[in-house]
Amino acid sequence: MPPIERPISGEKYDVVFIGGGSGGSAGSRRASLHGAKTAIIEESGKLGGTCVNVGCVPKKIMWHAADIADKLRHAAHGYHFTLPQDQPKFTWATFKPQRDAYIRFLNGIYDKNITGEGIAYHAGHAKLTSPNKVEIRRQDGTTYTINADKVVIATGGHPVIPSDDEIPGASLGIDSDGFFDLEDQPKRVAVVGAGYIAVELAGVLNTLGSETHLIARYDKVLRTFDPALQDVLLPWMQHTGINFHGNSKVVKVEGERGRPLTVHLNSGKTIEVDTVLWAIGRKSNTENLGLKDVGVKLDPAGNVVVDEWQETSVKDIFSIGDVQGKALLTPVAIAAGRRLSNRLYGGEKYKNDKLEYHNIPTVVFSHPPIGTVGLTEPQAREKYGDTVKIYESSFRALYFSMIPVEHKEPSLFKLVVVGPEERVVGVHVIGMGSDELLQGFAVAVKMGATKREFDDTVAIHPTSAEELVTLK
Ligand code: FAD
Ligand code: NDP
Repeated sequence: MPPIERPISGEKYDVVFIGGGSGGSAGSRRASLHGAKTAIIEESGKLGGTCVNVGCVPKKIMWHAADIADKLRHAAHGYHFTLPQDQPKFTWATFKPQRDAYIRFLNGIYDKNITGEGIAYHAGHAKLTSPNKVEIRRQDGTTYTINADKVVIATGGHPVIPSDDEIPGASLGIDSDGFFDLEDQPKRVAVVGAGYIAVELAGVLNTLGSETHLIARYDKVLRTFDPALQDVLLPWMQHTGINFHGNSKVVKVEGERGRPLTVHLNSGKTIEVDTVLWAIGRKSNTENLGLKDVGVKLDPAGNVVVDEWQETSVKDIFSIGDVQGKALLTPVAIAAGRRLSNRLYGGEKYKNDKLEYHNIPTVVFSHPPIGTVGLTEPQAREKYGDTVKIYESSFRALYFSMIPVEHKEPSLFKLVVVGPEERVVGVHVIGMGSDELLQGFAVAVKMGATKREFDDTVAIHPTSAEELVTLK
């Protein structure tokens, strides 16, 4: 059951969160826990935001499905399992409703948490009419206004698709939201982009058997990541069947919705596909929110500008999560929301609570996955010059010892250390299990651990993670 709405005009709150995604939900729950009279406004009709509905959660479920496809291949080719058929078949059309049902289950948990913690729920589109007044437009078009001592903007962002003026036919393509709407698996797909989403969704589609093209503006993917990771991932993606079109731009898409499409590249090459998936970045939801009218400063890209305390240019208006354009990750939005509410309502103990935006660990659910925290080698060299030292190994997990060479996934373990004490300022890993091993190492980096302290930690054998405490 959705949370009970509180469309009471003129009601006054200590704090109003605009956006019921990762940041807004976590921040409002914490504020309420500290005793603040709290409201949350969500326009989509579903709590949970991008991560739950069209992001981390359904994406990771699809990654697991793809990972199973890989494991089934390994089972047949290397681990001597006799499978009913050599090419296991994945049925997207029946899996998707099951995935959707799980998302609805999570929506219900969010609803229950918000209701259970006494947060007033307002369903509709929020717009600031003054720094302390928020107008809510309900789906039926009616509006009412609530009052707030403080407002937190947590409206997230949306995927970008080029306009048809820029690239004729671009709107024939879908974005990552559209990917999660696909009722069936496209047989042939062109993914445009080179960041997290392009790499992850191209990986899922390819591993599940779609003919997959990846079209990137440069000759690399994940260009902001440590170069060593890029150098391992891209060749393996190509080895596993992804057709990589580097240094390429889409100039036109031709065809009709629901029919095969022809993608024209600037090189003159054409690609025939069933689906074009744009994954070229996201834009913050800062339009039609009344921000400019009340004086909230935006940067040139349209993100809300905040200081280290999540404070905007207007007193008592704060912003957290994707909409402020920094570190677009769910745990970041959650941590920023909780810390802000701690600082505002948690009393003396939390008076300096805030989120530090460095050493944020992150994982790319590629095949194989990537884990990274801290400075890349080029960033460290720029900051620390010649005092930087690199420890690196391309170790192969024991698991792959039984697997024929064409299926042996690569891996790489890299530490970036600085100074005579060899403080570890960057950990970069790619390979099976990197996603799960990173969290603990992120704690060590956050604590300022040195290479010596890594080495003094007894290894766990036989694992891949032990590589990071035995690097020479
Ligand atoms: P959101 O979760 O986007 O929530 C914003 C909410 O505000 C939405 O529900 C929206 O409907 C609502 N809203 C907007 N405007 C208004 C308005 N005017 N009035 C009322 N409501 C409004 N992060 C990870 O950490 N790990 C991952 O594996 C991962 N995978 C991802 C995969 C994909 C495909 C995508 C797109 C993102 C992924 N992310 C991942 C990023 C993660 O989803 C976001 O960082 C996170 O959801 C941001 O939370 P938020 O609260 O800032 O915004
Ligand atoms: P990203 O910013 O990660 O990547 C988008 C990439 O698209 C850019 O890096 C750029 O790469 C390329 N690009 C930009 N404009 C164009 C263009 N006009 N034509 C072609 N290519 C272009 O954005 P995503 O949309 O992939 O993801 C958004 C954010 O969501 C991520 O940054 C991440 O924070 C979060 N996320 C996190 C995940 C996780 O934690 N596992 C998973 C998915 C998303 P280049 O400059 O090389 O061309």
